[in-house]
Amino acid sequence: MRVDVVSIFPEYLAPLDLSLIGRARAAGTLRLAVHDLRSWTHDVHRTVDDTPYGGGPGMVMRPEPWGEALDALAPAELAPDGVTLPRLLVPSPAGEPFTQAMAHELAAESHLLFACGRYEGIDQRVLDHAATRMRVTEVSLGDYVLFGGEVAVLVILEAVTRLLPGVLGNAGSLDEESHAHGLLEAPMYTKPATWRGHEVPEVLRSGDHGRIARWRRDEALTRTAARRPDLLAALDPASLDKRDRAA
Ligand code: SAM
Repeated sequence: MRVDVVSIFPEYLAPLDLSLIGRARAAGTLRLAVHDLRSWTHDVHRTVDDTPYGGGPGMVMRPEPWGEALDALAPAELAPDGVTLPRLLVPSPAGEPFTQAMAHELAAESHLLFACGRYEGIDQRVLDHAATRMRVTEVSLGDYVLFGGEVAVLVILEAVTRLLPGVLGNAGSLDEESHAHGLLEAPMYTKPATWRGHEVPEVLRSGDHGRIARWRRDEALTRTAARRPDLLAALDPASLDKRDRAA
């Protein structure tokens, strides 16, 4: 997958060199480039913002550098139909909530382009113009406001990269974790069996795989009901068996 990130703070994306994302980059699974928006400015101060029309506090990111950045990274002449252009993702607290389902959707794309806003955000015309030639999604990490889109990009890329083939050593973990099937994962334990007076549940030490699977499923249901009743309510009833309903 190819990923381009445009930001006025490219150094904010430095963690993308670390850990499994760094390894995915080294292996070529993730071809990531981070670009400085200011390289598409032409004045001596490398200006990217200006006061908002209509008044109000803060500054708004000017459309010209963004327009040039998107032209350079998604050249229309290469894909007049827009089909092979990247999918443009614009982090925004007013965007579509980011979920594991969206992470799966993005992991199936061949090219993602992130536009990181700062200040009061990017001039709306940048998004409106981009939408005339490529797919544009405003995406929110949650109902709170960050300083900029860079942290959102780090989060989204972590979630997406671990879904790419070959990135996780054991792909089976993707099938058993929270949000894989609309439930939260059961609690996990490792050695020692007793720690500071707290015991690992007996069933997990029993070696009985059937009982263990049932226990994990029950715990997942109980946890989800207690912590995220919204997830439980959204589950397809057909995915529940008789024992699930009892739990
Ligand atoms: N004025 C904007 C509003 O009220 O919707 C908030 C701008 S915020 C201070 C600056 C930038 O941070 C946004 O353009 C966006 O890129 C990023 N950002 C802030 N909160 C975010 C969130 N919850 N999810 C994703 N990106 C966010």
